[in-house]
Amino acid sequence: MSVLVYAENADGKFKKSVYEAVTYARAIADQNNTIVTAISIGDVADSELSQLGNYGAQKILTVSNDKLKNFVNQAYAAVIAQAAKSEQADVVVISNSFSGRGLAPRVAVKLSAGVADGAVALPEQSGGKFTIKKTAFSGKAFATVELTSAVKVIALTPNSYKVVENATGAQPQAFTVETDENDFKAMLKDIAKASGKVSLPDAEIVVSGGRGLKGPENFKLVEDLAELLGAATACSKPVSDAGWRPHSEHVGQTGIAVSPNLYIAIGISGAIQHLAGISASKVIVVINKDAEAPFFKVADYGIVGDAFDVVPKLIEAVKAYKA
Ligand code: FAD
Repeated sequence: MSVLVYAENADGKFKKSVYEAVTYARAIADQNNTIVTAISIGDVADSELSQLGNYGAQKILTVSNDKLKNFVNQAYAAVIAQAAKSEQADVVVISNSFSGRGLAPRVAVKLSAGVADGAVALPEQSGGKFTIKKTAFSGKAFATVELTSAVKVIALTPNSYKVVENATGAQPQAFTVETDENDFKAMLKDIAKASGKVSLPDAEIVVSGGRGLKGPENFKLVEDLAELLGAATACSKPVSDAGWRPHSEHVGQTGIAVSPNLYIAIGISGAIQHLAGISASKVIVVINKDAEAPFFKVADYGIVGDAFDVVPKLIEAVKAYKA
């Protein structure tokens, strides 16, 4: 038995969610007295790859192949499945990121595995059972599922497992794979960001605006704050329904689910359908002029005030801090 963890890179760098997944994979390996192998696909420098060894990976495989430079769902899933077979992995861990959500079921099919997507805790293993807690209904509830297959695929919700340093000194080694033309029928050519400079699904910081901003012209406040923080911009459903912002920014049950380290909600009431898409955020800051707004119940920090007073002051404070 062993555990394989897929280390997704963004422009050659690993995000914190990858280190969470490696730490998590190591904890499962420790539960089973086995080892963790990490696999990276695409161009990543050796110095970055060896970071995986700082969080418990005992073996680091790297696949460098011209055809696999850019993410191709089916082809990447095939590579991860090949690595799982070669490492005799019976648990495969993938971060439940935008691309991870597409990869996990594909890898599971190739390995005839059961899949737990949106996992939020370590599996419970007792009496020969392997059960795991995961999000359900767009994050509004939790479900416990039992995986009965020999191989299990787990997609870990970002921000649900704490990174722990555990240096192994492992160094990257090349892993050669066979590619199949049939896996390249749908190729990612470009990611067009509908607006904002940072892609929303995997953003580490999100600044989001609601109907409290009164009109599309006032979203400049959201954009300015987001730009200063290196954040993605988002909005509530009525805002995108009204055409104030593109639908690609709509967060919630019927929109995108995000799990940033910081979610700043400006003029959003905090309806359950909105909260469904942001509940995995690590720190939530709410700015709302109504002290009774439901969003304050889930906020880590709340500012009761008029967005048109508070946000400009926040922007000035961030500018002063950065100066
Ligand atoms: P409002 O509810 O109008 O709230 C505006 C807030 O701004 C208020 O709290 C107000 O106090 C505050 N405010 C007003 N002026 C200011 C000011 N000057 N400064 C600071 N604060 C101010 N919604 C989603 O967002 N995502 C979804 O995916 C989604 N899916 C849905 C699915 C279904 C089936 C249904 C029925 C609804 C769904 N909704 C969804 C809609 C959801 O129920 C709410 O209606 C919506 O989230 C409210 O958006 P809002 O908070 O921007 O607007």
